Amino acid sequence: MILAHNLGFPRIGSHRELKWALESYWKGRWNQEKLTQTAKELRALHWQRQHEAGLDLIPVGDFSWYDHVLDMSTLLGVVPPRFGEPQDEVDVDTYFAMARGQGSGGEGGAACEMTKWFNTNYHYIVPEFQPQQDFRLASNALFNQVAEAQALGFSVKPVLLGPLSFLWLGKVKGEAFDKLSLLESLLPVYGQLLHRLQTQGVEWVQIDEPILVLDLPADWKAAFEKAYSGLANRGLKCLLTTYFGALGDNTHLACHLPVEGLHIDLASGPEQLTKVLDELPPYKVLSAGVVDGRNIWRNDLEASLGLLEPLRERLGERLWVAPSCSLLHSPMDLALEPALDEELKSWLAFAVQKIEEVVTLKQALVEGRNSVAGALEVSAAAQSGRRQSDRIYRPEVRSRMAKVNPEMARRRHDYSIRAQVQREQLKLPPYPTTTIGSFPQTSSIRKIRRDFKAGRISEQEYRLQMEAEIARAIEAQENYGLDVLVHGEAERNDMVEYFGEQLEGFAFTHNGWVQSYGSRCVKPPIIYGDVTRRQPMTVAWIRYAQSLTSRRVKGMLTGPVTLLQWSFVRDDQPYSDTCLQLALALRDEVQDLEQAGIKIIQVDEPAFREGLPLRRTEWEHYLDWAVRCFRVASTGVGDGTQIHTHMCYSEFNDIIHAIAALDADVITIETSRSGGELLEAFAAFEYPNEVGPGVYDIHSPALPNVNQIVGLIKKAAEYVPAERLWINPDCGLKTRDWPEVEAALCTLVAAAQELRTDE
Ligand code: GLN
Ligand code: ZN
Repeated sequence: MILAHNLGFPRIGSHRELKWALESYWKGRWNQEKLTQTAKELRALHWQRQHEAGLDLIPVGDFSWYDHVLDMSTLLGVVPPRFGEPQDEVDVDTYFAMARGQGSGGEGGAACEMTKWFNTNYHYIVPEFQPQQDFRLASNALFNQVAEAQALGFSVKPVLLGPLSFLWLGKVKGEAFDKLSLLESLLPVYGQLLHRLQTQGVEWVQIDEPILVLDLPADWKAAFEKAYSGLANRGLKCLLTTYFGALGDNTHLACHLPVEGLHIDLASGPEQLTKVLDELPPYKVLSAGVVDGRNIWRNDLEASLGLLEPLRERLGERLWVAPSCSLLHSPMDLALEPALDEELKSWLAFAVQKIEEVVTLKQALVEGRNSVAGALEVSAAAQSGRRQSDRIYRPEVRSRMAKVNPEMARRRHDYSIRAQVQREQLKLPPYPTTTIGSFPQTSSIRKIRRDFKAGRISEQEYRLQMEAEIARAIEAQENYGLDVLVHGEAERNDMVEYFGEQLEGFAFTHNGWVQSYGSRCVKPPIIYGDVTRRQPMTVAWIRYAQSLTSRRVKGMLTGPVTLLQWSFVRDDQPYSDTCLQLALALRDEVQDLEQAGIKIIQVDEPAFREGLPLRRTEWEHYLDWAVRCFRVASTGVGDGTQIHTHMCYSEFNDIIHAIAALDADVITIETSRSGGELLEAFAAFEYPNEVGPGVYDIHSPALPNVNQIVGLIKKAAEYVPAERLWINPDCGLKTRDWPEVEAALCTLVAAAQELRTDE
C-alpha cells in the first residue's frame, strides 16, 4: 500500500503550551506531575490531529522536553559524569541539568554545549563522549510513548536518531580519541533498543541519518555498512531517513544499506531522484519527501503529482509520501492566523496544512486525481494567484536589480587610502572603544513599545519616550568614556522584525513560532514579494542621538544576509535575488545615514556563517553572492565614512577570504570566551582592515577586569597590528542590566587607557 507518513511534528504546541509548562516547572511553580501531564496531553493531541488528517503512520519519539538529540543521549546513557552518579533511569532533573546547567553553573554544573542542527535555526544539545564511554538503555521515555500512542489506537512509527549521526553530532571530552571507535560498543545498545520496540509490536521504525547528505570521510562511510548490517534482521522494518539535502556521493551507500526503506528530501535535493531510482534495490520502499518541511509555502500539488505519478508506475506500493523533513522547522497551524489577509494566506501552509497536503497527494495516487479534484483546484488557483499577484513583482525593483554593476559593489578606494581619510576626519584615539549596538532592553522600554503597538500612546508620545531612552544611553556612554557611541536600539524589538516591518515584501504572523532551542521559539517574518524601502528606517533615531553629543554616533543596521537567513524566504526566485533586493534597500539607508552626517555605520551580519551550504562544493557560490550583497548594501559611501560589521562567533578559518572580501573598515567579533588565538585566521590571511575582538562575554554574568582585557588585547596584537585594533564587547548588551553594563564598560575604557599609556 502507498502510505502517507510524517517524519516529526512540532512539539511546542499551537499556543506554545510546552514552553509555558517548562518555564513554570523550572521556576518551581509547577510540579513534575503537572509538567508530565501537559506533555502527555500535547502528544495525544498532536497524534490525534495527524491521525485525523489521514496519515497512515504517526511518528512517536519526535516529542521532546527540550531536544531530540538530548533525548537520544539519555536514552543511550550518555550523561557526563559531572551530572552525578549514573542512574538506572536518567531522571527529568538530570536531563534538564544537562540542557541548562545546574547549581551555580561553573565548572561542575556547566550545561552541555548547544549548537545548530545542520543548516537550520534549531539548536541541539551536543552529546559528550568520554574515553571508554559506555552505553546502556537509560531511559524508558520512548518505549512509554510508544505504548501511550498504541493505547490510544494509533499506528505508530518510532523515530530514532541513527547511531552514526548521533556519534557525528557529539563531541569528545577530555583526552582526544576517534569517536567513531565508539560504534562498536554503541551498536549492541541500538540492537536492544530495536528489540524492545519489536516486542512492543512496532512494525516500522524511522532511523534518521541526516549526515548522509554531508561530505563524509571514508571511514564514516565504511562504518555505515557495518552499523546497518549489525542492526539488520531484528524483526522490524527500518526506514532510513535523510534530509536537508541530496545524497550526492553517498547515494550508492544509502541505497544499498540493509534496511527496508529509504526517505529522501526532494524539496532541498530534487536532483537526487534519478540516481536514487537507478540504485534503489527492488525490494525497498522509497519515501518521497515532496512537501517542504522547512518553509511556509503551500505545496504545488500539480507539480508534486507530476513527480509522484511516474514513481507510482515504477515503484507501485513501494512508494510512500511524506514531508521532506520533520515539521519541527515549520510553524504549527495557519488557522491560527486570522489577521493575515486571505490572499497571502492562500499561498501558505504550516505543519497542519502540510500534513493535509501529504495526505491529499497520497489519495490522488491511490484513488486517482478525481478523488481530490477540489483540493487540486484550490492548489492550482493559489499557485496561479501567487504568480500573478501584483504584490509580488515590483517593476522598479526589477529594473534596479538589472542595473546593479560592479561599481556598486566596491568602495571608491582601497582600505589603505580610506583609513587615512578616516583617521583625519574621525580623530579617534588608538584602541578606540565602542559597543555592538544594543543597550539593556528594560521592562520600561518594552512597555513603551507595547503601549505604542496597542495604540495606548500616540506616535508623538512614543517618540518622546524613545528619545528619552536614547538620551539616557548617550549620556551613560559619555560618562563611561567610550569613543564611538550608539543610540542603544531601544525602538527595536528584534533586529530582523524591526527592518522587515518597514520594508515592502515582508509579512508577519501572530503565532508562527518555531522552536529554536528548549523553550525558546522564534517567529521569523515571511518575505513573500519584491523588497523595497518605503522611507528611511533608522535615520531619525540616529540623527537625534548624534545631536546630543560631540562624539561620533555609529548608525546601526541589520545586514542583507542576516535579514534573509532569519526569515522564511520566498521560493519563487533564487535566494541570491531576494538578498540583492534587501541589499539595495539597505544601500539607500546607508546613504541616507551618510547624508544625515553619520560618519560611522555598522551593518550587522551575525547570520553570515549560518548561510553556508552543507556541502563544501557549494560554499564558494554562496560566499560569492553573500559577499556581493553585503557590498552592495555597504559600499555606496565616501572614503571618510567608516563601515563596520559585526559577527557573533569566532570561527573564521575557513571563510576568512570572504570576510576580508566584505571590505568593512572594521569588523567586531566574539572572542572573549575563546581567547586571542582565534585571531590566528586573521593573522594567517594577513587580514588588512581593522578588527575589534570582543573582550567582554555578554552571555555571562561574570565581569572582566582591566588586566584580563589588557591581556586579551595584547594577545590580539600578536595577530593584528595594534593600530588596527578596537576594544568592544562580544555582542549587543540588550540582555544585561545597567549596573553590569556600567561596570563592564568602565573597565573596558580603563583597559584602553592603560594600553594607550603603555605605548
Ligand atoms: N546590533 C545588534 C545588537 O547590539 C547585534 C545583535 C547580534 O549580533 N546578534 O544587539
Ligand atoms: Zn552579536
